[in-house]
Amino acid sequence: AQGRSRRKSMEEEPPEPPAASPVLPPRRHSLSQDDGDVATAEEAERHNAQEEREQIKPLHDFKVQAGATYHLITASWWREWSDFVGLQDSTSPTGAPPPPIDNEDLFEAGSSVHLRKGLVEEQDFILLTQKEWELLSKWYPGSGPEIARRGVLDGTYAKVDMYGLTLLVYLHKSSDPPKEMVVSSAATLREFKEMACREFDLEPSEVRVWDYFHKKLHKTLETPGEKLKKSQIINNNDILLELKDEHGKFVLKGNFQHSYYRSTGGENTVVNSSRSMGRGLVGLQNLGNTCFMASTLQCLSNIPRFREYFSSGVYLKEINRQNPLGQEGKLAEAFGDLLRLMWPSSDGDMVSVVAPRGFKYQMGVFRPEFQGYQQHDSSELMNFLLDGLHEDLNRVPEPKPYVETVGREGPDEEVAQFRLSQYRRRNDSQVHDLFLGQFKSTLVCPVCGNISITFDPYNMVSLPLRTHSEEMLTMYSVKFWRKPTPQGPRECSMLRVGVPKGSKVAKVRQAIAEQAELDPNQVVLATVRNGYCYNIHEDAGSCEYNASSQTFFAFEVANAAVFQRYLRPTAVSELSAVTVYMKHPNSPKAPLSYSAAAAQKPSPDPILFNHPRSTTMNEIYQAVASQISPDMDPSAIEIYVADDRAYRVEKTGGVIPNNRDPVKGGLKERLGLVVTFVDPKSLVTTDIPGLEPEETGANGGASGSARGNTLSINDCFDLFSTPEKLSPEDSWYCPKCKNHVEANKTMQLWSAPEVLVLHLKRFSYSRFFRNKIGKAVSFPLEGLDLSPYVVGPQSTGAQPGGAAAEDASERPPLLYDCVAVSEHMGSLGGGHYTASAKSCEDGKWYKFNDASVREVTGSSVNQSGDAYLLFYVRRDAQEEAPQGETKVEEEEEEEEEE
Ligand SMILES: [Zn+2]
Repeated sequence: AQGRSRRKSMEEEPPEPPAASPVLPPRRHSLSQDDGDVATAEEAERHNAQEEREQIKPLHDFKVQAGATYHLITASWWREWSDFVGLQDSTSPTGAPPPPIDNEDLFEAGSSVHLRKGLVEEQDFILLTQKEWELLSKWYPGSGPEIARRGVLDGTYAKVDMYGLTLLVYLHKSSDPPKEMVVSSAATLREFKEMACREFDLEPSEVRVWDYFHKKLHKTLETPGEKLKKSQIINNNDILLELKDEHGKFVLKGNFQHSYYRSTGGENTVVNSSRSMGRGLVGLQNLGNTCFMASTLQCLSNIPRFREYFSSGVYLKEINRQNPLGQEGKLAEAFGDLLRLMWPSSDGDMVSVVAPRGFKYQMGVFRPEFQGYQQHDSSELMNFLLDGLHEDLNRVPEPKPYVETVGREGPDEEVAQFRLSQYRRRNDSQVHDLFLGQFKSTLVCPVCGNISITFDPYNMVSLPLRTHSEEMLTMYSVKFWRKPTPQGPRECSMLRVGVPKGSKVAKVRQAIAEQAELDPNQVVLATVRNGYCYNIHEDAGSCEYNASSQTFFAFEVANAAVFQRYLRPTAVSELSAVTVYMKHPNSPKAPLSYSAAAAQKPSPDPILFNHPRSTTMNEIYQAVASQISPDMDPSAIEIYVADDRAYRVEKTGGVIPNNRDPVKGGLKERLGLVVTFVDPKSLVTTDIPGLEPEETGANGGASGSARGNTLSINDCFDLFSTPEKLSPEDSWYCPKCKNHVEANKTMQLWSAPEVLVLHLKRFSYSRFFRNKIGKAVSFPLEGLDLSPYVVGPQSTGAQPGGAAAEDASERPPLLYDCVAVSEHMGSLGGGHYTASAKSCEDGKWYKFNDASVREVTGSSVNQSGDAYLLFYVRRDAQEEAPQGETKVEEEEEEEEEE
């Protein structure tokens, strides 16, 4: 979603300043408003804030174009700079200019090549045009490292290719290790060749470039205008540069030809042919954030009847190359090719790891969102993949018959049957034979009682984990610091608050205040990372970023309004907003690094409090000491002045004296202080709250907090079929009232397919972000009885049209057994997918984690709490299926086909 949302979020995010913007204090590095500070003034003079603003502002209003170059910079710098020049509100310049741009926090620890995964635009980085970067890096010399990226076309809109491809480039006949190059997947082969030749100092006409994937010569990359992506070059691909021999000739031949290639165009490659654990126990190499794909593929490949259809080659007879909705069979071929590698017909061909390169490529052709190397939702892939395979294997020849879509009156059984047969006249495939079920959805008009019933096909059932009204809320995790009392130190607790979707910051503060039994004006909402308070949230701002990955921090203070820049009391406050950072005595002046990776150890959470502006030096000491701990002796600490964000301690300033002198002119409105301890040992004692490292990850998001709140799969089915009142936006047109009404809607399973895929709705969506519900869901591995939830006739296909029993208790059980589970752990962006599946070869459970496969116990599968997609097979269908292998002789099939 990088790139395309940038305009939107630019408009949404910044808080709206009131018409009369308050003039901010002129300097940041001093304790009081009118203290002089020569160094800062000089520094500021080199910068013309107004000019910087006026030059950058028009440039920053851009749309990402394919082919253009963009620059990433760290968002924290941009925020500081925006404040400095008054980008949002065009106020006159205030405070000191920011230091040079330091993009260090955008890279993975220890790397200056690889960007951190899961970076979010506006939150972590800002996109600049080439021109903006040139100007800013000229004004702020020493800025860097430079991060230039290309705009690429993603479907119909352009986005910035954030991560690019990392290629390992080998020189033929050289024993040197490969060189690592990061290039855009949109680069052409010619551009890449030129780059590589520059890197190795070679003449392009003397060089031939090879796709050297897994150090095997695949093919030459010599179509100049073709893009790397099109050539199926993937992340961490090996590349070989071949030089002409002494006769001026290229001699290498692409001799690596795997027998599985056939003419499918699929190039799923055997990575490791040793140590195979058995048929189907094959790892899938991660091609760069493709664990969601591996997880889905492993689950599908362990559905016996589905897998056999492909691994036996039967599917080849049913490929429909004419279907305009399909991929001319290429997706089915790439999928089938992969399953045949994973499930070879004889033991001799067994391999242990496969790189699903050909499959990934075809999936990306079918659905462009899967082209890149971003993490995706495995349920989305499932949906699209089943759909794509169905179309490629649709038995209905072109042209498909025309069918009426108009409704039909009659008993439910008749209408449902009619709708299904209409649908199946155009859609008939093995995929549907196994996965297709029907929903019954009932709408009731609240005005006239008119009822409308529809029957729609499905291949997956999405089960809610929350009630409909809960769905409408965004939940936030909040680390809340209560201020100290004369009896005890400040206390920390974790809160969960829910606010209606799209709520502004003010609502979140209100919700926290309610839980903490405080006035909303006693709650400051902030984002704190590794002890650095890098944002105090303004009431008018949006808070959706935090829902996705982070925990909000909230602080109890006397007057929260003073902490907000734009929403301050009309009268000048008597109070100052003070932020205190606790640091090691050896390095009081070291800047706080808000990237935990760069910091040597976790920093304690800051302290926020209000202090009278008219005060003395020793009153400040007393106040800070009592904020740390009620029995802290003020002489045990030293206080330095920092800017109001405490980025750095003032260069020229030292310790502020602990004496009775009044602060001339009074404290400034917002003040940053750095505190160190005279005795370094006080820093390591754990009796000072906030100094111990956090026990749980701050990015726990929704996951950690809902512990002990386990749902059963039956609860989820109950939530699924609970009637809900449609919102005004989704209102239904009642044909009887001839009006839009907020109808009551009920969803039910009319029929359940042989292979039932249950999707636990862990991700709730908002405009920009997804929130994860971390509730554990219990489910049986064997004998899930669906009879209470299937409202249509429970035929198994053998006895069509059996009458529906009114009383669920009279029905025979409809039993399903679990064969595979797709699991998701962590937050969405940075999370990871695995799969657990039951081998039909030995009946044991295995855990598939990218390339690794290991045996696990069944109980570990349904007790992990990470289950996301559940794959169930109807028991009577398993019994129905012939025992043993139903394989059609592969070679014969091939001949028949040709
Ligand atoms: Zn009506």
